[in-house]
Amino acid sequence: MSNNGADKKAGTRLVGAGRKPEWTGAVVNPPVWRASTHLYENCAALKEGTQDNADGRFFYGRRGAPTQWALADALTELEPCAFGTVLYPSGVAAISGALMSVLSPGNTLLVTDNAYEPSRLMANGLFKRLGVETRYFDPLDLNAYRALFCENTKAVLIESPGSLTMEVCDTPALAAIAREHGAVSMIDNTWATPLGFPALQHGCDMAIMALTKHVGGHSDLMMGSVSAGERLYKRLRQTAQTLGHVVSPDDAALALRGLRTLELRLQKQTSTALKIAEWLQKRGDVAHVLCPMLPGSSDYDLWERDFAGACGLFSFVLKGRDADARARLIDALELFGIGYSWGGFESLALPANPAPIRSAAKWPPEGYEANDKQVIRLSIGLEDADDLIADLSQAFDVMGPA
Ligand SMILES: *Cc1c(COP(=O)(O)O)cnc(C)c1O
Repeated sequence: MSNNGADKKAGTRLVGAGRKPEWTGAVVNPPVWRASTHLYENCAALKEGTQDNADGRFFYGRRGAPTQWALADALTELEPCAFGTVLYPSGVAAISGALMSVLSPGNTLLVTDNAYEPSRLMANGLFKRLGVETRYFDPLDLNAYRALFCENTKAVLIESPGSLTMEVCDTPALAAIAREHGAVSMIDNTWATPLGFPALQHGCDMAIMALTKHVGGHSDLMMGSVSAGERLYKRLRQTAQTLGHVVSPDDAALALRGLRTLELRLQKQTSTALKIAEWLQKRGDVAHVLCPMLPGSSDYDLWERDFAGACGLFSFVLKGRDADARARLIDALELFGIGYSWGGFESLALPANPAPIRSAAKWPPEGYEANDKQVIRLSIGLEDADDLIADLSQAFDVMGPA
């Protein structure tokens, strides 16, 4: 599929992406095509339809209809160097679909140690059972990473920043090393989206997103996507068709609606998050603020080098407090919901415990006091920054001094 308008800025591309007259007609957005059966004119047309597995051609509901095609096309247009995008019923399905498209029994998979926990569970469970060995790497140690490659290493799963602890890694270097070894590099790019980090342009082979988060943006749909160049796109598509992955046209229409305001929401959430991160950094009861776009933070330099934008998701670590104190703080928040997911218009707070998940890169890392380990992850929504800061401030008061 095309990369129309690739020379335009993100905001302009977001408005026009995926809008084709043959799919939308005279209205602005593609109608919701609810379809399982597509009817054929006659037997000859039916036969032709079965043989031709082309994109954008009716066949049967499992291959989608214009609502889903418009969304897939829009995402392709937003990802420089992408040939096509496959949609999945969730972000987790997108990760499994990407891995399934390249891995076979006997292969080795490398996974960043700060990866989203369900990605690890998938590697340690399903893929282990299918005969794929997983090795975890410290995302900040290129030499150790390079040493893990073997003849059978066929895929590398990167996540940057890690969605709990926010380490930014040298993704272009990780992807280049994977390529030298003939392995496919895939990145879970949910945090930055192609607006903040055009992953294929930075050398990754597949760009994965949980559309559930920023693209949906309104906490009311589940979906995932993988974008890739021509050769890998074809493998992704074939695998998704084999596995029977489809998304509903209603959800595709919602995701397209979310997409139009993606840049606006990300910009506002980033600037509010930064204000809150700066405020947290000045507090004596906060030991660390894990926020790549915060100048002076340990991840700032790589973020500044590689990223064109950020989002509202970051974490902080309480100084010398226990889990009860953390729960008092979170429970006292009035404007932050408590829940999984992120990237919606409403702010969320989540207690997190990275330590037991890790295997290659110890957490807390070097330089942390032993008692500085209560992590709180914030997903900043569209509320006013001063109101959110006031809410956090009163919740710190409720938590009380150590
Ligand atoms: C939420 C999330 C996913 C999975 O998305 P779902 O739609 O919830 O399956 C994948 N990666 C990251 C980093 C996430 O935060």
